[in-house]
Amino acid sequence: MIYPWQTDDWNRLQQLRDHWPHALLLHGQAGIGKLRFAQHLAQGLLCEDRRANGEPCGACVACNWFAQGNHPDYRIVVPEALAAEAGIGNGADEKAEKADTDDGKKTRAPSKEIKIEQIRGLLDFVGVGSHRGGARVVVLAPAEALNIAAANALLKTLEEPPAGVVFLMVSARIDRLLPTIISRCRQWPMSLPAPQAATQWLAAQGVAEAPALLAEAGGAPLTALALASDENRALRDWTLKQLAAGPECDAFACGEALQKLPVPLVLGWLQRWMYDLLAQRTAGAPRYFPQASAALTRCASQADASAFARFTRAVTRQRAVENHPLNARLVFEELFLGYRELFA
Ligand SMILES: [Zn+2]
Repeated sequence: MIYPWQTDDWNRLQQLRDHWPHALLLHGQAGIGKLRFAQHLAQGLLCEDRRANGEPCGACVACNWFAQGNHPDYRIVVPEALAAEAGIGNGADEKAEKADTDDGKKTRAPSKEIKIEQIRGLLDFVGVGSHRGGARVVVLAPAEALNIAAANALLKTLEEPPAGVVFLMVSARIDRLLPTIISRCRQWPMSLPAPQAATQWLAAQGVAEAPALLAEAGGAPLTALALASDENRALRDWTLKQLAAGPECDAFACGEALQKLPVPLVLGWLQRWMYDLLAQRTAGAPRYFPQASAALTRCASQADASAFARFTRAVTRQRAVENHPLNARLVFEELFLGYRELFA
């Protein structure tokens, strides 16, 4: 099923059916359901009882295989980390993983990249004919996770697409894709749902404080839903209080309290807070933390403008290396000390 806010995109896309592009790039903000949309689109392309609106029937043999994750003409390529998180299985990967464990090897953190081995496996798949005589469909997400070797390997296939193969690529960071990849795809921008529709949907999922969470999620409903059940929410609220304290922010307490959290998570909070400080100053209204408006106004009026720009750059630099192994405690201490200096 697609999400209710995607109906318009779905209907407009069906107009491409007679001339379906061999590669479609669905892009837009993270947390709006692009991957699920792509999967549903894939099922619609593989369904053997195709309806006028491209909706998969849910009952034919192809739909049943698809639901069980073993349609022979379908592949989904995602980084290991996403596969584990979203429960997306691929027979071959699972076997390889199991072999690792059986050997008693040390388990490593699942990769966040799409690796060349995965693309090679995919090329084997697109190299053979269709099992069912219809389209072969590949969903690849997120495209920005392709490492450089994998992207180049994929590019060759996109340049000379095998007949009957459809690529459905998903990206939240189109700016991180190789321009040559983008130029081989038909781009399809997917926009944020209207706030009212998103809030309604969140309320229907049982989310209290839907408007505040939606704001914090930058308008992305799935991100808001994840925030609602975020086990780190108490620490997040505590961190926001520290930031709201401005010159009284206790950098060492932050290092101590947050050291077990993933660096990208805390950097995300900090970055959104900095965005809101600037938005409060320039536009008079925050985007992510409207409930902290009073504290943001106070901090914005106290912060030094040039120090502000420097610190924002420092946070951005940290984001660039956030996935590398770092001493989280030291990183946080340094960042929150830098934050306090804004008010010196
Ligand atoms: Zn079907």
